[in-house]
Amino acid sequence: MFLRPLRRLRKRTGFHLALWYSSVFILSSSLLFVLAYVLLSSTMREADREMTLAKMNEYALQYTTGGLQAVIHEIRQEDLSNADTGFLVRIATPDDHTLLLTLPHHWKKLSSRDRRELRLGTPGRWTVLRKKQDENFLEVASSYLPNGAILQVGQSSSKRDDLLERFRQIFMGIMIPAILIGFAGGSFLAFRAFRPIRDLIRTVRSIDTGNMKARVPSSQTDDELEELIKLFNGMLGKIELLITGMQEALDNVAHDLRTPVTRLRGVVETVLQAECEPRALREALMDCAEESERIVTMLNTLMDISEAETGVMNLHLGRVNIVSLVEEVTELYQYVSEDRGIGMSIELPDELYAHVDPNRIRQVIGNLLDNAIKYTAAGGRIGIAVCCRNGEVMITIRDNGVGIPSHELPRIFDRLYRGDKSRSHRGLGLGLSLVQAVVHAHYGHIEVASELGEGSQFTVFLPADEHVSALPDPERSTA
Ligand code: ADP
Repeated sequence: MFLRPLRRLRKRTGFHLALWYSSVFILSSSLLFVLAYVLLSSTMREADREMTLAKMNEYALQYTTGGLQAVIHEIRQEDLSNADTGFLVRIATPDDHTLLLTLPHHWKKLSSRDRRELRLGTPGRWTVLRKKQDENFLEVASSYLPNGAILQVGQSSSKRDDLLERFRQIFMGIMIPAILIGFAGGSFLAFRAFRPIRDLIRTVRSIDTGNMKARVPSSQTDDELEELIKLFNGMLGKIELLITGMQEALDNVAHDLRTPVTRLRGVVETVLQAECEPRALREALMDCAEESERIVTMLNTLMDISEAETGVMNLHLGRVNIVSLVEEVTELYQYVSEDRGIGMSIELPDELYAHVDPNRIRQVIGNLLDNAIKYTAAGGRIGIAVCCRNGEVMITIRDNGVGIPSHELPRIFDRLYRGDKSRSHRGLGLGLSLVQAVVHAHYGHIEVASELGEGSQFTVFLPADEHVSALPDPERSTA
């Protein structure tokens, strides 16, 4: 029962983090404590020893001036005046016969081993007497008096031990709650810090079950995780847009294929049912060929668009003079426009270079010119201009044709989209989609400005080649 939540907790990164931080905290504070403890204990030991030596000098002086009685008097005075723990004082004859022995207050008696140790004590060395069941000990210093007698003074470690014991207790008293609070606080903070990650997991699970609208809630913290959430949500938005676009394109393709395929079947069925003359049969076959041609063109263009959009289009890039490329394509379309009574004016500089696939850019200019001619009535005008601005080659194709209604403008680059007014014209609704996809594949962009009944202007921007050898020369124009 209890084990399952505990096991789940063990798997949480927040729990691991809190555990790690607590361990580091315990380890470093323990290390600090040990250091402080050792330092304090050795300092106190030094202070005690200095005090013992000072006492020994005092007794030695007393002995030299007033003999044994003076020392006994001094010890009595000290006993009366303070409630201190007292000192061990031993005065012995040069042949080590004890003349005086006083013990610290809580030190009841000396064992025979302690006495032996005391007798072995030599000046310049500290003799340590230990109690059997106690941690306290006596540190005794020895010296010779001027008459050759031995003076030994010792101090108990009890005061020092009590202080160190208090220090240990205080440390434990602070450390245990500090560890508990640290661990609980750490777990809580880690739990809070990992909230965006949990939200992320929940969102991914939700998307996994088909809810493409799911997004990670923003934590409004302006930190790295918030940035990750923003990027993740942005990516989800793009994926959703792509999927919707693909679904729409698929629907459109299915819809647009149905008409030519139905027409094909109609022609075939009519021919099959009736006894047809060879001429009618040939006409029917020609209709079929035309319809299949339309379907093939449509499928090929769709393939080209998706290749360009996904970045797998095979581009044969090279340094190309855009001016001569535009001239070439314009020349081809000039006959068609003349045929339809549409004037064409061209403004071109000497040369302008860009790193492009010439065939694909020819296709882009061709599609835009084709549209301009298609959507401009006889007597209209088409203008073509090329120039270089801010490191970009700009190809502008404008017409004074039917124009595009403002509500249609955002959709004209969609696959298979055809404006209401264009239904009477031939077309597949794929020309501008291909233009945009190819321009994007060249790291360029396209802009459109149009006024209904006034005309349209399409501008293609392509990154200019680093070595643009000539600046635009707007003076040169042909009509
Ligand atoms: P299509 O011309 O085959 O219909 P496009 O993708 O080339 O397909 O163009 C999409 C739509 O944009 C057209 O149906 C038309 O409504 C509009 N359009 C494009 N170029 C022009 C233009 N120069 N003048 C007016 N409308 C245009």
